[in-house]
Amino acid sequence: MNIDKSVEAFNEAFKVIPGGVDSPVRSFSGVGGNPLFIDRGEGGYLIDINENRYIDYVQSWGPLIFGHCDKNIEEAVSLAIKKGLSFGAPTLLETELAKEIVDIFPIDKLRFVSSGTEAVMSAIRLARGYTNRDDILKFEGCYHGHSDSLLIQAGSGATTFGSPNSPGVPSDFAKHTLLAKYNDIESVKKCFDESKGIACIIIEPIAGNMGLVPATNEFLKELRELCDKNNTLLIFDEVMSGFRASLTGSLEFNKIEPDIITFGKVIGAGMPVGAFGAKAEIMAHLSPEGSVYQAGTLSGNPIAMSAGIASIKKLKVNRELYSSLELKGKRLIDGLKKVANETNIPLQTDIRGSMFGFFFNENPVSNFDDAKNSNLDRFAKFHREMINRGVYFACSQFEAGFISTVTTESMIDETIEKAREVFKLL
Ligand SMILES: *Cc1c(COP(=O)(O)O)cnc(C)c1O
Repeated sequence: MNIDKSVEAFNEAFKVIPGGVDSPVRSFSGVGGNPLFIDRGEGGYLIDINENRYIDYVQSWGPLIFGHCDKNIEEAVSLAIKKGLSFGAPTLLETELAKEIVDIFPIDKLRFVSSGTEAVMSAIRLARGYTNRDDILKFEGCYHGHSDSLLIQAGSGATTFGSPNSPGVPSDFAKHTLLAKYNDIESVKKCFDESKGIACIIIEPIAGNMGLVPATNEFLKELRELCDKNNTLLIFDEVMSGFRASLTGSLEFNKIEPDIITFGKVIGAGMPVGAFGAKAEIMAHLSPEGSVYQAGTLSGNPIAMSAGIASIKKLKVNRELYSSLELKGKRLIDGLKKVANETNIPLQTDIRGSMFGFFFNENPVSNFDDAKNSNLDRFAKFHREMINRGVYFACSQFEAGFISTVTTESMIDETIEKAREVFKLL
């Protein structure tokens, strides 16, 4: 496949954008190779600037559950654009989208922001303000955006207090972020023993940022109990899983209710949107009702709200589409597993609704340590060879994949056939 235009574009971008990209994961640094510069999307396909076509399992990292250029969303956005791009004043659209969401999640109110990062950052501030505590607890391998308190990795030695995983994050911040192991309740209890008081536990109930690794029912139930016992708020970060794993994200699978939920990705249908919500009593602490400050010039942007409303309404009237998405996803991962078996390549697979994942790993993956034990070289080669054959998977072993309503069975079967060729080369 000739990608000379993307190579040239990457070199040009390098001159004016650090690393040539506006978000590090796009650089393909985890797998080697040159990122593709995209000209356009068409339904389930991406088309690069050399006019090569790729079956798209990334979907802009999750938002595009209806694929590219969905007619209803396009129409809603076009109508909204004609009225003006932004007003910095309330519109009916914000209330409408908020109603659509609180109607199906166990929250009374929510506030819109412009990204998942902002949603989570604000939710954490709200939890700290509400509980009057500084410490928060997160899990290794969960990603919650790039705000200071959350860019934290495991510290050296046996400590449960994190250390910054980026220069620029003060260690004074990091010391208020405790780190526990996903699906390991004892590591959580240890954090409670060591802290003077934890404001909140934040978790991706269906983790999609270390590859796809769902939390077990039992684990989430125990987290809920520990939070209740310690007056700690439980935050489910459903920026990725909300409206993706099911209409109601993890709730459909686990029936565990958190105190605060964060959203993003699908609720903007490709436009920049995030949101966080909770019961009225918690949300009342937010300015201007309460004293926890949070704001945004473009928050609740009318174009983004219009895209979100069109997308969520369509999902709600077609609830059964999640089972059809899951069936297609299952066809894909079962097919990959089958051709992996033929070549004796160990592959772990999992699926939740339209989110799927696979690890080049001999053992089941239930936390970040397990995920890191995967064969990353093999993944990198797999990724490159699939790209060469016109299949666009996320450029890291530690990302989930996505099925959209316009991903067809024949696209999936084509993917499996190409994987059969590629597995022979691994
Ligand atoms: C993508 C993601 C975020 C960050 O959202 P951005 O819009 O990239 O800022 C936060 N949490 C989770 C679980 C995510 O998947």
